Amino acid sequence: MKFAHPELLACTICPQNCGANRYLGTGFCGAGADLRVNSCQLHHGEEPVLSGRGGSGTIFLSHCNLRCVFCQNHQISHRGWGNTTSEAECSQMMLRLEEAGAHNINLVSPTQFTPQLAASIRLARAAGLSIPIVWNSNAYEHPETLKTLAGLVDIFLPDFKYAHGAYSRKYSQARNYPAIALAALLEMLAQVGFLQVSPAGLAAHGVLVRHLVLPNRISGTREVLYALHENFGPGIPISLMSQYYPAAEAHSHPELARGLSPQEYAEALELALSLGFELIYTQELAPSADWTPVFAPGITAGNAPITHFHGRKHNAQQA
Ligand code: SF4
Repeated sequence: MKFAHPELLACTICPQNCGANRYLGTGFCGAGADLRVNSCQLHHGEEPVLSGRGGSGTIFLSHCNLRCVFCQNHQISHRGWGNTTSEAECSQMMLRLEEAGAHNINLVSPTQFTPQLAASIRLARAAGLSIPIVWNSNAYEHPETLKTLAGLVDIFLPDFKYAHGAYSRKYSQARNYPAIALAALLEMLAQVGFLQVSPAGLAAHGVLVRHLVLPNRISGTREVLYALHENFGPGIPISLMSQYYPAAEAHSHPELARGLSPQEYAEALELALSLGFELIYTQELAPSADWTPVFAPGITAGNAPITHFHGRKHNAQQA
């Protein structure tokens, strides 16, 4: 029997290394062999270099290879809301987003579907897709898997989530997260370098590292910033995200059961500035679910409606 993606027969695509046969069942992430998509939209609330005027062409993938207790997209990531979508249908979504005015194709939570998305991107490119592809991931990824995306992904947008493995295990079920994320970042940078912005002010290619600041210093923002600075220097562009609010099971963890305080965010920004990072995107502080798109259980795969989402404002601080 012939399989389109034989690596899914004993899946070690991501560092969870389940070894699951995804043609017969699922592993930790909950994803089988078929691509699943929840929705596609023109997202106006990403960093300005991604959203521009027309919006970022966001495709939300179902499932996730982390299990963050505070996940703001938990209906999709934990519960797997979405519909089976063929690689050809996914490539059509990309083309329709470009036609609708998207500046890029923004693949959200893509890691568990790396081979299927690589195939979709190839199909879309062959059919004329001309805008950049954004890989919007949690950085819990194998460099070997990322290598399969070389030449296909233009912009990597990893969220560097934790500085401490004890917290990544406790809150996201991810062992050894900091070392794994650093190795993933190295591979992303080897492929596309630091973020480059076009004369029109839009992201063209490169890496932009996000960091979601969590309450009570759980994400280890100080150590994350030190690690980024020490390993890659002050030229690495960063986006400090303030959008945390307690979602999913966060209320079961008192230390995560509130939004970020203005002092906590100010402390993170002050440190980033004092370290001399040359490009820092900041976010308005208004912890609320209003800033998260509303998800439905699924779309009609081949004919997904393109919706608009207006998120909070980001600002750029440039040295
Ligand atoms: S992609 Fe899913 S099935 Fe494969 S190793 Fe990761 S969590 Fe396991």
